[in-house]
Amino acid sequence: MISINEILITRQATLKEALSKLETAGTGILLLVKETGIFERTITDGDLRRLILAGHQLDETLNILPKIHSTIIKKEYSRREVLSVMNAAVINHLPVIDDAGKVIELLERKEIDQQILLSTPHMGSAEREYVDEAFETNWIAPLGPNVDAFEKELAQKVDIKHAAALISGTAAIHLGLRLLGVSQGDKVFCSTLTFAASANPIIYQGAEPVFIDSDRETWNMSPTALANAFAVASREGWKPKAVVVVNLYGQSADMDPIIDICDQYNVPILEDAAESLGAHYKSKHSGTFGKLGAFSFNGNKIITTSGGGMLVSDDEELINKARFLSTQARDPAPHYEHSEIGYNYRMSNILAGVGRGQLQVLEERVKARRSVFDTYVKELSDIYSIEWMPQPEWSYSNRWLTTATISPNAKIGSKELIKKLSEDFIEARPVWKPMHLQPVFAGTRYFTAQNTSIADELFENGICFPSGSNMTTQQLERIINAVRKILK
Ligand SMILES: *Cc1c(COP(=O)(O)O)cnc(C)c1O
Repeated sequence: MISINEILITRQATLKEALSKLETAGTGILLLVKETGIFERTITDGDLRRLILAGHQLDETLNILPKIHSTIIKKEYSRREVLSVMNAAVINHLPVIDDAGKVIELLERKEIDQQILLSTPHMGSAEREYVDEAFETNWIAPLGPNVDAFEKELAQKVDIKHAAALISGTAAIHLGLRLLGVSQGDKVFCSTLTFAASANPIIYQGAEPVFIDSDRETWNMSPTALANAFAVASREGWKPKAVVVVNLYGQSADMDPIIDICDQYNVPILEDAAESLGAHYKSKHSGTFGKLGAFSFNGNKIITTSGGGMLVSDDEELINKARFLSTQARDPAPHYEHSEIGYNYRMSNILAGVGRGQLQVLEERVKARRSVFDTYVKELSDIYSIEWMPQPEWSYSNRWLTTATISPNAKIGSKELIKKLSEDFIEARPVWKPMHLQPVFAGTRYFTAQNTSIADELFENGICFPSGSNMTTQQLERIINAVRKILK
């Protein structure tokens, strides 16, 4: 930020003094003020050069400067307004004026147009080495030593026996459902509050999703709603082929009661842990509770391969089958022989190299995101309309995204807050829109615990704040100040 006092100048100063001041400040701009401190106009080096070319002497005072109206902005500005004023006037600096007419700040284009994004990739130091190695050995794709090593290293990290590296988390969920035998006409229970990729693969398999509401304490699948769904299904004489349990925003669902219910009906769980790598439920790794678990390494996730996923299980046969199906289901034969329909879902050796490097910094990334969350909570503790996503005592969340709800009674609600933050170039987003509210799933069955839908409430009032592990302290401060200014 530019220090205002260094660039203030009055008409009593000489041309020479002005040139020297401009030189020292290095801003390319001075602010001409009256004796009273009231702002008059800006002076650029071009303005001074024109005076010299017109034959003025260096010891003349700035009284020779013509009176013009410089563009200014009042202090209640948004970054979007500043940028549009700068664009309209074709300028890169804009003085901010208080009610008395004094300059309080000089805004610079290159600082103003900086966006803060929700969650961006954050590379470590080892990724390049693994990728270089792949290039040097020409082991580009598919498969290769990085893929094998990435699978082993991830399995070890989350303490599970087997893992198959795939092109996306969606592919992992799709293969998982296929391996659980989900097919045409089957029904699958699935958390409603999630990203569409949890539910779409149910449709890929020709099956029908049935959505389950969230718990207020976890934002994840409500065991009571799940029990209701099973009870109704049982009365109607059917049972789902699988249950997709999602661990939202880095926090595990309450797995024990969910597992109890599913065991009671003997239905397998596929854990969608796309967002919860590095999180724990009662000291066991999230993603390792179901018959199968799916992780994602999409660009916005806690670690990334630019795009990728992993299917994990303690059942070796299932993971071997996943590797077989994900490489076009080639039967062992010298020619191309197929007795099943396969997919081209395998991760490349290059991307697995990125994944190996990222895996080495997973704990650091989790710590950084948790610290982002803690900072928001601490710095905004006096804003009573914010209620942070709860963390039950059994949960160790990776806090992939810092999320909260804004009280529906507050003057500024979540939607207004998101809009105002975007005007300040801060990317906040609503919480996932529940699947049972999506046009594409219209008419799908949906079960809640009681008469109200918690997922609807969370969507209505929820907000995700920028949460990247690579955010600077200044960026976090900027967001916190903006939120405070809007909600206070
Ligand atoms: C990101 C995500 C997925 C999909 O993962 P991709 O790797 O992008 O295919 C699935 N489920 C949830 C909950 C996600 O957040």
